[in-house]
This record gives sequence, structure tokens and C-alpha cells, in this order.
Amino acid sequence: MTASLPRTPRHRTQPHGAAPQGAPSTGAPLATVPTVGAPQHADRPVPRGHVAVLPQPPPGTRLAAIADHLAHANAPAYRFRQLLAAIARRDVRTFDDVRDLPAPLRRELAARFGPDVLPLRPVAVQSAPQVEKVLFETEAHVRFETVLSRYRAGWTSLCVSSQAGCGLGCTFCATGAVGLMRNLTADEIFAQVMHPHWASGGARLPESVAFMGMGEALANPHVFAALELLTARGYGGLSPRRITVSTVGFAPALERLTREQPHVTLTLSVHSPFPDERARLIPLESRFPLGESLEILDRHVADIGRKTYLAYLLIDGVNDRAEHLDALARLVAERSRPELFHVSVIGYNEAAGADPGYRAPSAGRVRAFVDGLLVRGVRATRRRQFGAAIDAACGQLHARYLLGEPTAVPVHATTREVRARGDRGEGGRANGAGA
Ligand code: SF4
Repeated sequence: MTASLPRTPRHRTQPHGAAPQGAPSTGAPLATVPTVGAPQHADRPVPRGHVAVLPQPPPGTRLAAIADHLAHANAPAYRFRQLLAAIARRDVRTFDDVRDLPAPLRRELAARFGPDVLPLRPVAVQSAPQVEKVLFETEAHVRFETVLSRYRAGWTSLCVSSQAGCGLGCTFCATGAVGLMRNLTADEIFAQVMHPHWASGGARLPESVAFMGMGEALANPHVFAALELLTARGYGGLSPRRITVSTVGFAPALERLTREQPHVTLTLSVHSPFPDERARLIPLESRFPLGESLEILDRHVADIGRKTYLAYLLIDGVNDRAEHLDALARLVAERSRPELFHVSVIGYNEAAGADPGYRAPSAGRVRAFVDGLLVRGVRATRRRQFGAAIDAACGQLHARYLLGEPTAVPVHATTREVRARGDRGEGGRANGAGA
């Protein structure tokens, strides 16, 4: 490899699993791949007739290894572009399906990298109105889940996982109860978005992607390469503004993210304005206190002038009192640009493995908390969530699958069977999880 993907210039969560922030955009999935010229960033439109060289994949990724293999096999450069174009179309599962490539090259790639173009296979699916949750399995049989939400306005949002399980042990989180199995690779994160599973019926790429699935995204260094793949023209081609990274406050990586991907939307999980209480909810508080992450965000919003989000998971009788409202409002008022901090209030859903003492608040209680912030001058909304019937917030499909509970439909089940289960709301109770 001679160069990595272009860096974006610096000018300027309930875990992971609820609806992401921001309005939809079509992004720029590469149906047509540029061929010759200077690298392009996904945010910049390519004028008609302009030609560009595709950036090389980040070193260490499977895509980089494939590009290397093709170069050493003296395959013309356009063969790699043909493979990327097939991934972008999301209509191929195996190398043998990529009919643009000559048969000997298809066989060679399958022999070297295995039959599948992307390193993931869907093994189980749960569906409910407007939401579909897929349990993916890696080539090494590690499992994790991805959730697609379909909004009535016609756009879709994909909630991706960054780790199989999570080692941070937040006490409200189903994924934390599973523990960390391993970080997902950049290719595995990229594959969740580009997987042909989502393309049935000609569906386009999701308008937004949120790192709110299993795992703390910023505890996984491969997330940076994944973001490069997702945003680079010729690969995912998504606008970074349509990607949300949620964190419980992994401060050093948050600082790096604001430097390397300043246009990605950020969500910092607060969940309590009081350090002792927050540490009981999010143990990482004792290592990286909330104030450290807020200072990073202060500098960041002053730099880029764009809104950032504070997530607040509301747990009945735990963090929902007037003193919480007052302290949270003070915390926001102390920011460098308070008008650029938006609080997303999320009602907790009871989660397998979470502290059994935690209870879900009523919808009225969540609304009252949002109103309490508004009257204190804080910009706040209640975050929409889909898929409570299938535990779509995070971690539960995987946790239940491990327990052998028959809540998921094997992926080879017919669409009718999947829909029937979704319509009956099978899949158990709602959960809470993730940052
Ligand atoms: S909330 Fe996020 S960081 Fe905390 S345990 Fe769950 S997945 Fe990990």
C-alpha cells in the first residue's frame, strides 16, 4: 500500500442502539467508481466528467490485503475498483458472484480470503414494525448484532456494533453483562453497513449510521480505520455528518476523534450529573471523569460550530429528580457554547444482565424530565426508539441467543416467517443498554 485514505481537514448512549441524531442524507454510495485523478472526500461532489484515483484502504485491513494480493498478481488496478463497485452495489456475497472479475481471479481470491467478499454472515434475524435486528457472525464465529430502523419519512438508519460484547460494565447495559469478547475489525464494522443482507428489494445504503450497537466505540482503535472506509469515496461514501459516534467518555480517543474526524456527530453519555452516582452507572467515570470529555467537547464545538449531543438515560427513581434537572442544566450552562449542546433523554428499558433494581420510567415521566430541562433553558428532546419488542436497543438478541432462548429467527427462515414473528412482537421485553 502506498497511501491511506485522505484525512478530513481540521476546520473548523443507552448504548448504543436508539435512533441516531440528525436528519437524513443520501450520502454518496459509489454506484460509479472514479477512475483516475486526485483523491476525493465524500463531502465534496465530484463534478461531472472529473476523474479521481480511489484512495488505498487503510493498512492492516482485509481490503488492503486484497488490494496487495491483486497488485502482486499483476492484476490491472481496475480489478480492485470492480470489486469495490460490487461491494457498493451490495449485490454480491461471494467472490464467485463478482462476475466482472475473470473466473481464475475469482477462484484465486476465494482460495486466499475464503468464499465471502465481506467477512460477516447473518445467522439470525428479528423483525418488528420499522426495525430489523440481525445477529452477524465473523469468520472466527464471534457474534454481534446490528439494527436497521426505518423511519416513516422514508429514510433508514443503521446502528452498528464496534465490539463483540463490552468490557466497561455499565450497570444498566445488557452488552456490558456479556463482557468483552473482542474488538471488531475495521472490515467487520464496514461490512455491517455494506452487507448485501440489507439490500433485498433494492434498498439503498442507510441515510445515517450510528455507533450505538454493542461496545464502546472509542475503546476500539479499529473504529478510526472503519470511519475512513465508511466515508471514503469509492468505499462507503457516506457523509461523516451522517455518522454518529456514541461514547461513555473514553477521553483520549474522543480527543483523537475530534482531530481526525471533526465532522462526525458526537454523543456523550452523561446519565447523571453527579460523579459518584455516574460512577455507579458508568464505572469508566472513575478513570475518565465526565468533566474531561466535556472539556474536549467544549473545544470541539467552538472549533466547528456544530451541535453535539449529551445522552441522558432516565432510570425510574435513580436519576430523575429535580436535583438532577438542576445540576444537569448547570452542567450545560457552564459549557463554552451551551446553545450547541443538545440533551437527548432516553427512557431506560429493563435489560437482561443489568442491575435488577433499575426500572423503566413511564412515558409521562420522560416527557416531564424533558420539559424540566426546557424550562431551565436547555435544548432537549426525547429520543425515539424502535423495536422494544425485539430488544433492539442493544445486546439482548446476542445475550438471549447465547442463553439458547428461541427469540431469534435463523436467517434462512422465510421472510414470511420473520415478519410473522415480528408482528407478534416475539423477542421478549424491552431492554436498556449501551452508552
Ligand atoms: S453502555 Fe456502552 S460502554 Fe457501557 S457497557 Fe454498554 S456497550 Fe459498554
